[in-house]
Amino acid sequence: MAGPALPARITFHGAAGEVTGSRHLLEAGGARVLLDCGLFQGRRAEAAAKNRNSPFDPASLSAVLLSHAHIDHCGLLPRLAGDGFKGPVYATRETADLVAIMLADSARLQELDAKFFNKIHADDGERIEPLYGEKEADLAVSLLRPCAPGDVISPSPGLRARFLNAGHVLGSAMIQIDMETPAGPRRLLYTGDLGRREVPLMKAPEPPPDVDYLVLESTYGGRTHAPSSEIDAELGRLLRKAAAEKGKIIIPAFALERSQEIIVALDRLRNDPSMPEIPVYVDSPMAINITEIFNKHLGGFSFDREFKAYARKDGDPFGFDFIKYARSKEESQALNTRPGPMIIISASGMCEGGRILHHLRNNIADPSATVLIVGYQAAGTLGRRLQDGQKKVRIFGLQHEVAAEIRTMPHFSSHADRDDALAFVKGLDRKPGKIFLVHGEDSQRDALAEALKAEGCGAPEKPGHGESFVLD
Ligand SMILES: [Zn+2]
Repeated sequence: MAGPALPARITFHGAAGEVTGSRHLLEAGGARVLLDCGLFQGRRAEAAAKNRNSPFDPASLSAVLLSHAHIDHCGLLPRLAGDGFKGPVYATRETADLVAIMLADSARLQELDAKFFNKIHADDGERIEPLYGEKEADLAVSLLRPCAPGDVISPSPGLRARFLNAGHVLGSAMIQIDMETPAGPRRLLYTGDLGRREVPLMKAPEPPPDVDYLVLESTYGGRTHAPSSEIDAELGRLLRKAAAEKGKIIIPAFALERSQEIIVALDRLRNDPSMPEIPVYVDSPMAINITEIFNKHLGGFSFDREFKAYARKDGDPFGFDFIKYARSKEESQALNTRPGPMIIISASGMCEGGRILHHLRNNIADPSATVLIVGYQAAGTLGRRLQDGQKKVRIFGLQHEVAAEIRTMPHFSSHADRDDALAFVKGLDRKPGKIFLVHGEDSQRDALAEALKAEGCGAPEKPGHGESFVLD
């Protein structure tokens, strides 16, 4: 027998006043569900504190609902599983396929980074343990429950959830939750990461249903993006420069989505006979595996009609015919001594680990090299320090002079900007009772809060880390 419903409550355990570490606990309708279980990325000490200590008992959760496969949304699942969570992890089919790859890679990176850090610090005695390993990643993957569009997920009789296209990356979804509360039925929509109205490859986000509560991301809440129609001209200019100077273009890119978007742009530029042909290396085994998942789901709900048509016509939209994919360590290391021009696409996207660190270490002091930043760089990461113009950076604990040109190309962003977010909220027939702004640094979410207020949406909540709200 169900007793009287307890008040519904949401607690923000990450991505509150910052971008990474999305983890929101919703207690409603007799269930305790975690919306995303993301890794916090940033300075080592803060990351250790936020990632290693769970603010709730993992075994007490009924289910996890995943918005998408980026590591700052799913990267703490292995830790959750290792700490006793045994329930289902619901995700779209695409996301489930991608998460398996992302977590295996993340576990490997955690182990490698700890090993490398301990080696570098052998003399000063500083040691770290990996956050998790392969065993915990496998455990997390075994809990995944892939869902089809339209599936209704019901972890308890008083709570039903479904996924709606978020238009951010392959498989990305918003999560709609209908819950019983003492005040009656209530609906909450968690956008996860929200896509743009127009962006390469992706279908625009689904128009939102009417909701009582909206948990909205605000990564670029104070900005408007350069249009993606400028990508070819800007990228073409950099290709010509690299060809003339025989320079290397190093692109730190998220293996999920950003790598594929750049590959498709380079594939398209090859149709221009005036463009110099520069060798392109994708030096990321994970990007290769993920590109195969993209091919598998070409007919799925994420891609827009235009890209589907291009893919059909091109037959090889991810350039398997001209791009050299470096799988082995030896193939990767061979790039160090090979002369430019060349383009190297490698992960991690915020230069926090992986092969990109070796390419940066080898090229950062070379004035003919370009580091092309094409994705979000969180505060405290090496990518952000480069983007901010620091002249000296530490890589693997050692100091390097920055002589390479650092260029940011914001056109590729797969996050809604201020105008996209406002258009999304205006798409609601009635204004939500309350908007919670998450997944944005303070300057960005303050700007979005002001813009929403000006649209008559009241004053959105800007939850702090660990802050809790009753949904009545
Ligand atoms: Zn994302």
